[in-house]
Amino acid sequence: MSTPALRTSRTDLQEADKNDALAPFRERFSLPEDLIYLDGNSLGPHPVGAAERAAQVINEEWSNGLIRSWNDAGWFDMPSRLGDKLSKLIGGNAGETVVTDTTSLNLFKAIASAVRIQQQDAPERRVILTERDNFPTDIYIAEGISDFLNSVNAETNEHYEVRLIDEDLSLEQALDDSVAVLALSHVNYRTGAMWDMDAVTAAAHTAGALVIWDLAHAAGAVPVDLNGANADYAVGCTYKYLNGGPGSPAFIWVNARHQGRFWQPLTGWWSHAAPFEMADSYTAANDVRRFLCGTQPITSMAMVECGLDVALDADMGTVRDKSLALTDLFITLVDERCGEFGLELITPTNHAERGSHVSFRHPEGYAIIQALIGRGVIGDYREPEVLRFGITPLYLSYTDIWDAVEILRDILETRAWDVPAYRNRNAVT
Ligand SMILES: *Cc1c(COP(=O)(O)O)cnc(C)c1O
Repeated sequence: MSTPALRTSRTDLQEADKNDALAPFRERFSLPEDLIYLDGNSLGPHPVGAAERAAQVINEEWSNGLIRSWNDAGWFDMPSRLGDKLSKLIGGNAGETVVTDTTSLNLFKAIASAVRIQQQDAPERRVILTERDNFPTDIYIAEGISDFLNSVNAETNEHYEVRLIDEDLSLEQALDDSVAVLALSHVNYRTGAMWDMDAVTAAAHTAGALVIWDLAHAAGAVPVDLNGANADYAVGCTYKYLNGGPGSPAFIWVNARHQGRFWQPLTGWWSHAAPFEMADSYTAANDVRRFLCGTQPITSMAMVECGLDVALDADMGTVRDKSLALTDLFITLVDERCGEFGLELITPTNHAERGSHVSFRHPEGYAIIQALIGRGVIGDYREPEVLRFGITPLYLSYTDIWDAVEILRDILETRAWDVPAYRNRNAVT
C-alpha cells in the first residue's frame, strides 16, 4: 500500500507547538501522560487545583464551617457569582446568568418562560420549533412542555406542538407565524455544524419568535456573543468545554429584558424574592435568580469555578484560531492518511459553520473507537455510525493530532478493530 503524499510533517508540527501561545495551558490540567484526549467536548479534564478546592469545601467549609458556610464561605451566592464569571465567556452581562441545575432542567425553564411571554404577547403562537438532529434531551424537554400544556388545556383547541427542522423542512419554511419559540443548539453535538447565531436570531425575531440557544458544545469552545446577537435565552453545560467536572451544574442566561416578565414554573424557594422569609406563597426574585430552583450541589459547583478561571485566562480569539487550525489539520490528515478506509467526514469544512469537534461516519465506527481507546486515543461514538473527536486547544498540541491520526491509520490498516471485544456495547458510548 502506497503512503499518500503529505503536505505537512511531524517536524513542522513540532515547530507549530513551539510557537503556540496556548501551549502553557496544558500544565493547568491533570491529564495522564500517555493519552491523547479527544473527548473534552463530552467530559472536560480535571483542572489542576479542582480536587484541592473540593477538599477545601469538604474539610474546611463543611467540616469546620458547617451551616455557617452558607454565609461565610459564600455558598449561597455561588450560582450568581459563578454566573457572572461565565457570562463573560458567552457575551452576557453581570446579572444575566446563573450556574444551576442541569442543562435539561434549564431548557425546561427557558422554554416554559418563553412560552409564557408569548401567551401574553402572541397567544395564537403555539409551536415550539427545534430540529430533528438536536441533542435528544432538547427535543424531549420541548415535547414534555407541549404535552403538559395540552393536558392542562385538553378541553380547548389550543394545542401546542413541537415542530422539527430536518432535510424536508428548512428553518425558513418552519419559521411561520405559529412559532412561539425557536430552540436550537449553537453547535450540533453530533456533526459539529454551527448555526449563525446572529442571522438565525434576527430571522426568528423578524418572524415573531423568541430564541433559546443551547450552548452545550459552544461555551468555552467558540466565541459566543449572546447580547451581540440579541438572543433571548441560553443554556449550557459546564462539564464539557468548561471543564467543571462530571455532572457539574449547568447554566442559564436570560436577556435582561425578559427577566422581569415571567418566572419559570419550577418555583422553588431559591428562586423566591426572599427565601428566608419563609412566606406561605410565591414571589419571584426580581432578577436572574428567579431561574434557580432549590439547594445546589456546592462541592461540584465549587469545582466549576476552577474550570471557569482557566477559560477566563485564555483569549477566546486565540482559542478559536487554534481550534480551527487543529480541526483543519485533523480533517486534512485523516483525508491524506486514512482516505482509503471509508471514513466519511460529516463536519462542515467551512470555518464559519464549524464548532470545535470533528466527526466521521463509518459502518464500524463503534469498534474503531474502542480500538482507538485501547491505543490511548480517546474519542467517542454516537449513533448512527459516528466517530466523534473533540478538539480542545487548551490541552491538545499539533503533534497530538498527528499522533492520533497515525494511530487511527494503523488501526484501520491492520483491522485491529475487527475483534469481538470491540463490538461489545457499553452503557455509555
Ligand atoms: C450534553 C448536552 C446536553 C446535556 O444535558 P444534561 O441535562 O446535562 O444531561 C443537553 N443539550 C445538548 C445540546 C448537549 O450537547
